[in-house]
Amino acid sequence: MDSRLEAVRDTVLARNPGEKEFHQAVIEVFESLGPVHDRHPEFLEGAVLERLCEPERQIIFRVPWTDDAGRVHVNRGFRVEFNSALGPYKGGLRFHPSVYLGIVKFLGFEQIFKNALTGMPIGGGKGGSDFDPRGRSDAEIMRFCQSFMTELYRHIGEYTDVPAGDIGVGGREIGYLFGQYKRITNRYESGVLTGKGISWGGSLVRPEATGYGTVIFAQEMLKTRGLSFDGQRVVVSGSGNVAIHAIAKAQSLGATVVACSDSAGYIVDEAGIDVALLSQVKEVERGRLTDYAARRPGSNHVAGDSVWDVTGTVALPCATQNELDGDAAAKLVSNGLIAVAEGANMPSTRSAVSVFQEAGILFGPGKAANAGGVATSALEMQQNASRDSWSFEHTEQRLTEIMVGIYDRCAATADEYGAPGNYVVGANIGGFVKVADAMLAQGLI
Ligand code: GLU
Repeated sequence: MDSRLEAVRDTVLARNPGEKEFHQAVIEVFESLGPVHDRHPEFLEGAVLERLCEPERQIIFRVPWTDDAGRVHVNRGFRVEFNSALGPYKGGLRFHPSVYLGIVKFLGFEQIFKNALTGMPIGGGKGGSDFDPRGRSDAEIMRFCQSFMTELYRHIGEYTDVPAGDIGVGGREIGYLFGQYKRITNRYESGVLTGKGISWGGSLVRPEATGYGTVIFAQEMLKTRGLSFDGQRVVVSGSGNVAIHAIAKAQSLGATVVACSDSAGYIVDEAGIDVALLSQVKEVERGRLTDYAARRPGSNHVAGDSVWDVTGTVALPCATQNELDGDAAAKLVSNGLIAVAEGANMPSTRSAVSVFQEAGILFGPGKAANAGGVATSALEMQQNASRDSWSFEHTEQRLTEIMVGIYDRCAATADEYGAPGNYVVGANIGGFVKVADAMLAQGLI
């Protein structure tokens, strides 16, 4: 890391003790930014990095709710409004027992650069709760969402902060959150949340967008080697919204996706994953991959272990942070891997990224490769602002243009800074410069 940035890093780490995922995300970005500060001394003089690493506002609140038996539970709610240089804070809500401030801040920090790369007018934020939705009834989920919004509503708004989904928050939760926001504020403010249902202000393609976008980014990387998805053997981690649509898109382009995973293990399906069955099991029935294996002849379920043991030419990590470590990366490389595109946020550890880069693997970091979701959220905001709704074809076309644009910006920035093919450098610098310029233009705030 550039020595001028080390002191800033040390202050950030000391000021945010115990937040190891946030530290990881900050270090990963700082490692790319040395050359930018050679060209832009004004960023150092303006203390842009110091300001960027300190969220504009952090909200932590109590979320009390009752289960179906009438028992009272208390969870913790978060919203970190990280940076509004480019637009209202924008980013999802994650409901998962692992959520604490360090996770929300890593996600919010990444979101700043990701959102900048989309070229859309959105700042960066993230929120969530340590609430565990697994095994909860619809009524329990609704009561939790209503309690969560009863505090959150005062901090958000279409011009202020626009939450959406993330792990554990999908269309059902956005519906309950939107209903409660409307009830409290007496405003039908469509643009306050994205990921809404199609009949009440949502955008077509939003559910597919993150997974589709990840595959589009990977396709652009493959083109540089004269390759395409046709004939690739793809391994995916996760089996939620991002994974399902990444699998569907990769297979529509001629790949065979042979594996995907959940927290209990993974399935191998040599014939290519049956997306309709996977979606039925995971999205409709909210079941497990063991249910998929039981109903799909020729597939098998492997309990425990790592999906990265499965041989593939393209890997799409679409589960969660730090799910792919250095050993898993080395195994994938020795099994003939060509490309990795991250559908999840920070799924590869820093040592995994080094292994991929040293082996010359095409590597698309999450803040670029998974930006299609939030980009389509911005398209949803655009439709809401104009009280319009676009066709699937038009919206998908816009998503494709945005993803190709992100790829081109990452590739061009990497070239410009003497690191051709290094999309980590391209994404970090490309996102950072845009935000830094806007911050300086807006004065010391
Ligand atoms: N949670 C998604 C992400 O990580 C989407 C956020 C949004 O649509 O606002 O980018």
